[in-house]
Amino acid sequence: MAALPSLISMMSQLIASPSISSSQSNWDQSNKGVIELLESWLSSQGFQCEIMPIPGRPNNVNLIATLGSGDGGLVLSGHTDTVPYDPDRWHSDPFKLEERDNKLYGLGSCDMKGFFAIVIDTVQKMALTNLKQPLIVLATADEETSMAGARALVSNHKIKARYALIGEPTSLTPIHAHKGILMERIRVTGQSGHSSNPALGNNAMEAMHAVMSELMRFRNRLKERYRDASFVVDYPTMNFGCIHGGDSANRICGSCDIDFDLRALPGMSNQSLIEEIAKILPNVEQQTGTQIEIKSLFPDIPSFFTPTESDIIKTCEKLTNNAASSVSFATEGPFFNQLGIETLILGPGSIDQAHQPNEFMALEQIKPMQQVLRGLIERYCVQGTPFNQPKDEEQRV
Ligand SMILES: [Zn+2]
Repeated sequence: MAALPSLISMMSQLIASPSISSSQSNWDQSNKGVIELLESWLSSQGFQCEIMPIPGRPNNVNLIATLGSGDGGLVLSGHTDTVPYDPDRWHSDPFKLEERDNKLYGLGSCDMKGFFAIVIDTVQKMALTNLKQPLIVLATADEETSMAGARALVSNHKIKARYALIGEPTSLTPIHAHKGILMERIRVTGQSGHSSNPALGNNAMEAMHAVMSELMRFRNRLKERYRDASFVVDYPTMNFGCIHGGDSANRICGSCDIDFDLRALPGMSNQSLIEEIAKILPNVEQQTGTQIEIKSLFPDIPSFFTPTESDIIKTCEKLTNNAASSVSFATEGPFFNQLGIETLILGPGSIDQAHQPNEFMALEQIKPMQQVLRGLIERYCVQGTPFNQPKDEEQRV
């Protein structure tokens, strides 16, 4: 096998290759530089590398790197993109890895370019040959914005494996569940007119008041119906985030928009929630004589749940000495669930430092993470246990 750069050198090369994803086109960048680095390192270690285009995203690709073959095996997955950054608030160049106070600073150090460097360094030191089940390193695009990379994997049924670990920063705590996210906009269209006579128009802001009252009643019903004690906020939430309407105090408001999010618990369906909200609106339309539409601001992310009895959760609880828990942020986990892969989120670094100026990964997180990765690769790929046959076979038995 060809020699690789050191872990720190790989991490600094990944950080030096900008791959910001943003819904604002002035920030949005290609992730191909990061993918090329990963491809060159992984193919030098014997991995078969496939670069997968993403529909509608010509500048962004996923990388699927596979060592060994079979239907079982383990996926180690991360996203290649970072969020934008605030240049004035960084104490060092965000694209230059800098070590200070036993911490590695740089944009993407913990979220999550550092994870790839740790994975590749671990794999190299294990000198893997004759795996019983495959090891797949997966690098996705656009996680921070649309999750287009993970969605494309689902629509192409690209990945087959029994287990997956997504190395998002969880301070090495195994995460088996998170809520889903919907972000919707409701637009009320009335009729503008001179404020001196209400009969000259139909006030959209007043109709929006009725919409908000209905949404709050709906929210209370959800809170009564659904609880999950494994979450700190143990009920589904709905937040009214912004509202815009009208233009002047002396004009009847002709149009009003409200944007809100809804974070559903595992077991709740985003699609049914949107349908339930859509059913509320015609009544308000009738009562107020306005037109009301709802549209998604962003493709929804389903909730994520892997049972705590899953072998990968149990194994990672043992390897880290931490009990599985839930988080409040969303990941690509639910898309792996849709591919039938038992998945957990576990990675080095803290979410507290992600999406912040002066993002860092503490050096002390690296060794324990390598130990977890070695344990998982040994169990699921080298030994091919506890399931040394494809999932379908077992289910048929
Ligand atoms: Zn992330």
